[in-house]
Amino acid sequence: MTLKNYTFFKIIGIVSLIFCQILSNAQNLKTTSDKEIDDIISKMTLEEKVGQMTNLTLSTVAKEEGQTIVLNTDSLRNAIVKHHIGSIQNVINHAYSLEDWHKLITTMQKMTMEETRLKIPFMYCIDAVHGTNFTLGSTLFPHNLGMAATRNPELARQCAEITAKEVRASGIRWDFSPVLDVGRQPLWPRFGETFGEDVYIVKTMGAATIKGYEGNDLKQPISVAACMKHYVGYSVPANGKDRAAAYIPEIVLREYFLPPFKAAVEAGAHTLMVNSAEVNGKPVHASKYLLTDVLRKELGFKGVVISDWEDIKKLHERHRIAESNKEAAGLAVNAGIDMCIVPFDYSFYNDVIALVKEGKITEARINESVKRILKFKADLGLFNQPYIEKEAAKNFALPEYKQTALQASRESITLLKNDENILPLSKNKKIVIVGPAAHSLTTLNGAWSYTWQGQKTEYFPADEPTIYKAIKKNAAEVKYYKGVGFDTSYTDNLDEILLAAKTADYIIICIGEDAYAETPGNIRDLELPKGQQSLVKQLAVTGKPIVLVLTEGRPRIVREIEPLAHGIILAYWPASQGANAIADVLFGDFNPCGRLPFSYPRYSGELMAYDHKFLDEAVEVASPYKFAYEFNPQWAFGHGLSYTTFAYSGLTLSSETIAKGGKLKVTFTVQNTGKVAGMETVELYTRDVYASVTPSVKRLRKFTKLSLAPGDSQKVELDLDEEDLAFVEENLKWVTESGEFELMVGNLKSRFKYINK
Ligand code: BGC
Repeated sequence: MTLKNYTFFKIIGIVSLIFCQILSNAQNLKTTSDKEIDDIISKMTLEEKVGQMTNLTLSTVAKEEGQTIVLNTDSLRNAIVKHHIGSIQNVINHAYSLEDWHKLITTMQKMTMEETRLKIPFMYCIDAVHGTNFTLGSTLFPHNLGMAATRNPELARQCAEITAKEVRASGIRWDFSPVLDVGRQPLWPRFGETFGEDVYIVKTMGAATIKGYEGNDLKQPISVAACMKHYVGYSVPANGKDRAAAYIPEIVLREYFLPPFKAAVEAGAHTLMVNSAEVNGKPVHASKYLLTDVLRKELGFKGVVISDWEDIKKLHERHRIAESNKEAAGLAVNAGIDMCIVPFDYSFYNDVIALVKEGKITEARINESVKRILKFKADLGLFNQPYIEKEAAKNFALPEYKQTALQASRESITLLKNDENILPLSKNKKIVIVGPAAHSLTTLNGAWSYTWQGQKTEYFPADEPTIYKAIKKNAAEVKYYKGVGFDTSYTDNLDEILLAAKTADYIIICIGEDAYAETPGNIRDLELPKGQQSLVKQLAVTGKPIVLVLTEGRPRIVREIEPLAHGIILAYWPASQGANAIADVLFGDFNPCGRLPFSYPRYSGELMAYDHKFLDEAVEVASPYKFAYEFNPQWAFGHGLSYTTFAYSGLTLSSETIAKGGKLKVTFTVQNTGKVAGMETVELYTRDVYASVTPSVKRLRKFTKLSLAPGDSQKVELDLDEEDLAFVEENLKWVTESGEFELMVGNLKSRFKYINK
């Protein structure tokens, strides 16, 4: 053997020895059964247990140097070895490369395996909320609000499945997504992260997303654990601001806000994150009623409950229900929280250890949480293979992901107005494109896009087009002017813009909201900023046809400028393929099919969901105090036009009555009566004619999506049962009362009776 060969084999030998050691360590700890987990717990010190319950953020052990992330070994050792920390999360400022993630997580895992007593595998967790938004080069999908507009749960499942693959490829197995808060307060800056205002859509799209993330088995290198968030009542702050107090009567909480979490538990979600805010004067982080009685006992949730960011401390610092951080930790753990995102220090760790020693938290309570956490780690396959999985890494950035992202963006886009069939635009025309959103990647991608606030385009994939660039590919001549910023008042170069506009065939004005996330996205007024509205008004003077493209995370009021536009499309935050999808819709390469997942308000003072009460609508009183007011949103929930037309006919019910336990089959036919192929979302609503708790004017009970060639028709069959017709009665139980119901689908209506026996 030559020296060279000898050295080669020696290196191979050492490498495989290390590899076998890593593997054998992992195999020694291969835990799946409850008994094996109990055995580990019986060997753990109190400190080791509380370390598992403590979640830190990356900046406690690392720092960024330019694009890369560098670990501080001493701080890491302090966390993992001295404080037994079992999980770390997040990025410091921006997304990292796949290689950086691998290095980072391997180092953390190696230290855990080599330097900790029990070698309980370490776990990394991340927010991947519309794609793997913290890994460079990943594919980003429309935010949930846009996904809800697609009314396509299978597509949502596919997008989530790709996200899971890219997260797992990054070496991470726990994803803090999806948001299951029902979006019924459009001022709330996280409205765009919701699936909109309807509880049935949130339930359906949420469960589909969870299936996509979790697959059939979390051990598979293509799956990640979902984290349903934020339990519960976060999305309806009374003042519209992030992390502010909500007042939700329990009857409403149970009717609208709990069902998505119940559906998510049934869909198998392994973890849950708690609402940072307070409901009815009780911060949810301290609510034993919500976290234990309702979540564990009623909904039957068995997984891990994690706090939100610094929120246990906030019981002391902001909510003022605890006199110290220590008292706050006691309240939260005793209420039912398993893991705390502290995330910057060891206060929770020290406080919980002290509280156990003082008898204020029982060790049995600690064991309960630790068991859930270790079981979760076992479910993720971390005891079997704690390191980066080669087969997972192969699934990163596959070219077909872009096609799914494009399809999702296309199906989300909602055509709100199309006077005189201005859309689709003919190609090879002269276009002037104006507005702050026209040449901006940040407004397309919104929150959580390679940085938390989504504002730093240097981390975006290089080949992503803006709307202007995507339009340029289709038109003979395109002139772009920004005109105004998202929040500036004066139009720059107005004369030049007007001159160009006068000779153009169409003016496309791209307006809306730039990226923001969470509290920095708080606003005082839902109205679209005045500067953007003036831009539209100034251009309307030319008399040229105007098309508005809205990219926004929540509905900004456009009442004054809507009449000035012939065409309006809403693209939500459509992400990486958004610009291509917008161009496809504008030029007719894709026939729009998105449907509003919320009621688009006309006035800031009239924020009402479609399923409001009869009392909230159309009141007319005779003279002398004659007044009339009605529910008159800018665009109704479910609105969305197409380039074709659909006709509904032949509505038949299998029976005039449903008895308890029975089913009603609803059948009808939908025909594409126009000239182009198109997709149609069919929505079935019911209305309880009289009920002991005032019924809503209507409730969405089922939806499905059809794809029809011109002239083709399809028979649709939808089932209804008593659960679909149930509501929460005064004693807080679900009930379906005997009586008459109206049923509405397309422009068709029918009636049936339910008999509760
Ligand atoms: C957000 C959560 C997120 C968490 C961890 C918080 O600020 O409210 O949605 O999962 O940070 O990053």
